[in-house]
Amino acid sequence: MSCAVKSNRIAEKDIIFKTGNSVGKIYIKEEKGRYQQRRRWLNVVLFILFLGFPMLQYQGEQAILFDVSGQTLRLFSLTLFPQDLLVFALLFIFAAFVLFFVTTYYGRVWCGFTCPQTVWTLLFNWVERRIEGTHHQSRALDKGAWTFAKLLKKLAKHTIWVAIALGTATSFMAYFVPVKELYQQLFSLNLSAVISGWVIVLALCTYLNAGWLREKMCQHMCPYARFQSAMFGATTRLVTYNTERGEQRGPRKRNSNPEGLGDCVDCQLCVQVCPVGIDIRDGLQYECINCGLCVDACDPVMERFGYAKGLIRFQSSSGEKPAKVVRWGYGLMAAVTIIASLWWALSWQNFEVNIIRDRQALSRINALGQVENTYTIKLLNKATYAQVFELELVDGDGLQMLGAQPFTVPAGALHHQVVTVVAVTKPEQRMSDLRLRIFAHESEQTETKTTLFYSNL
Ligand code: SF4
Ligand code: SF4
Repeated sequence: MSCAVKSNRIAEKDIIFKTGNSVGKIYIKEEKGRYQQRRRWLNVVLFILFLGFPMLQYQGEQAILFDVSGQTLRLFSLTLFPQDLLVFALLFIFAAFVLFFVTTYYGRVWCGFTCPQTVWTLLFNWVERRIEGTHHQSRALDKGAWTFAKLLKKLAKHTIWVAIALGTATSFMAYFVPVKELYQQLFSLNLSAVISGWVIVLALCTYLNAGWLREKMCQHMCPYARFQSAMFGATTRLVTYNTERGEQRGPRKRNSNPEGLGDCVDCQLCVQVCPVGIDIRDGLQYECINCGLCVDACDPVMERFGYAKGLIRFQSSSGEKPAKVVRWGYGLMAAVTIIASLWWALSWQNFEVNIIRDRQALSRINALGQVENTYTIKLLNKATYAQVFELELVDGDGLQMLGAQPFTVPAGALHHQVVTVVAVTKPEQRMSDLRLRIFAHESEQTETKTTLFYSNL
């Protein structure tokens, strides 16, 4: 008996995530439409912020600096220590909820408009277009034989790419190394081995990511690209091709209205401008970063042929807003994290204090026969200036503190102060609460700590 085996092979044309243009190098056609203009302005602002933040000075010091060796982060007048990382956790949670909220409405607009991978890729592509010409000329150059002109163009392009990558890496390092020191070392060609090593590694990553990997990074490595579809719904505004209106696609003369053809003139411009190399007319694809470049490309074509714009546009499949529970849920979580961050900011002290009891003995009897306990005050001055601190007992009836004269702690330093508390009258209990108030003269901030006073009665 013969047995017919049915093939499970899927025709390549039906595999929607593997469009022809996404294989190999993508030659991105430059686009100048409204979404591209918005992206360019946004990118200029982001570049200025990225380059400018480390240059900011505050009271003669770098305003923003991650001091790796000192394990601190300086933010204008604040110096944050690892103990203060809670606020970063809160801010990251807030940013995540804002991102989820925006994704619910507009899909991957973060990827298309503000992600550093996209921003640097478009910058590198801009350089490529200036040197190698249009995307067609660039492709022809790659296919052609090696000539002196080709060598010159490639050399110029890669030199500029490397220069941008080095500039990016150096600017990034300025967040971790004082900017004056960094540029002094750089311009005197005297960069330390560690800084040089980091600059080379970061520059290499930038060059490879933006010059060579490009959209492959988004498609195969970015975790956000993988889980963001969980936030999409029928209400999410995604870049969509209107199949009903566009099909049957086909070329035609301007202002003609051929029978049986939809509005798509099959000019392929939407495919040529796509930075991830897909054809949006094949339907929603996970590679799409919602950048709107295909909208920019298609609208002028529609105008030229006398059709209404919007054959490709940002559109939700239901045409409605996301459900209230989604909007309020994300909004509520974002509000909670902001309130928690504000609470943290308002209760933040520019010093941190811990009281450690003497580990040798709970209590002692001194030469006068009085009970005494010894404590070590561990005080971290988180201010960017030296502060004078004073200690006093709170409700310390019958107790007296020795060794509590005011002391100065330099900026960012940890100070140990040993104090002894003596019971001048006989304690009534074996163990009682002891409250110490610490007062910072300069900032006028106060903190009260409670510990225990033991008596060996
Ligand atoms: S399909 Fe359109 S919106 Fe999506 S990535 Fe390509 S150009 Fe951008
Ligand atoms: S740009 Fe518009 S008209 Fe041209 S192929 Fe794409 S969808 Fe069709």
